[in-house]
Amino acid sequence: MTTKEIKGSLFVVSAPSGAGKTTLLKRLFACVPGLEYSISATTRAPRKGEQHGKDYFFVSRQEFEQGIEQSRWAEWATVHGNYYGTSQDYLRDAAQRGANIVLDIDVQGARQIVKRFPDAVTIFVLPPSLNALEMRLVNRGTDDSQTIAKRLEAAKWEMEQRGEFAHQIINDDLEIAVRELCSIVLNHKKGGALGQTAS
Ligand code: ADP
Ligand code: 5GP
Repeated sequence: MTTKEIKGSLFVVSAPSGAGKTTLLKRLFACVPGLEYSISATTRAPRKGEQHGKDYFFVSRQEFEQGIEQSRWAEWATVHGNYYGTSQDYLRDAAQRGANIVLDIDVQGARQIVKRFPDAVTIFVLPPSLNALEMRLVNRGTDDSQTIAKRLEAAKWEMEQRGEFAHQIINDDLEIAVRELCSIVLNHKKGGALGQTAS
C-alpha cells in the first residue's frame, strides 16, 4: 500500500498515557462525523469496562509475535512492556474505502506510519505538566502505583519527541483542547459527511 492509495485522511494521535487522549478522541468522534477509529491489537490485559473488538483486540503474545513474522502489522511497538499494533489488512481496506482513519498510537508507531504515509496528519496531546499527568493517572484509578511510575518515566521521553508532530495540543482546559482537535481534523478531513471521496 502506498500513500497514493489512501483516499481519505490518516490522522495519527499520540500522547503520553494519562494526557487525556481517550477523553479527547471520544469528544472528537461526537463532534466530527465520518471518522473511523482504528482498533489496535494489544497483548495488555483489558482494563475494567474495555471490550474486545471495540477498545482493542486483546491477543496473546504468541499471536502477536506470529503477526510480526507474517508482516500482519502496518506498524507495531512495545509500549510499557506490551505489544501494540495496527492491522495491515484493516488499514489497507479502510484506505481503499476512502475512510478518514484515526490511529491512536504511540510515538514509535507514529514514526513508522509517517515514514510510509508522509501525508498523515500528526497530532500530539500534552498534559499541562508532569504533576498534572500524575494526578490524572492516579485519579483515573485504572493502574497500580508501579504502572503509574513506569508511565510517568515514559512520558518524559515521549514529550521530548513532540516536535516530530505537525500539531500539538495542550489538554489543560478540556473544552479548549476539544475545539482545537476538532478544528484540526475538520480542516484536513477529506470527502463529505461519510468521509468518502467520490469514485
Ligand atoms: P489517556 O487516554 O491519554 O491515557 P484518559 O483520557 O484516560 O487519558 O484521561 C486520563 C484521566 O484524566 C481521566 O480520568 C480523564 O477523565 C482525565 N482528564 C482528561 N482530560 C482532562 C482535562 N482536560 N482536565 C482534567 N482531567 C482530564
Ligand atoms: P493504553 O494501554 O493506555 O491503552 O495505551 C498505551 C499506549 O499504547 C498509548 O500511547 C497508545 O496510543 C499506544 N497504542 C495503542 N494502540 C497502539 C498501536 O496499535 N500501535 C502503537 N504503536 N501504539 C499503540
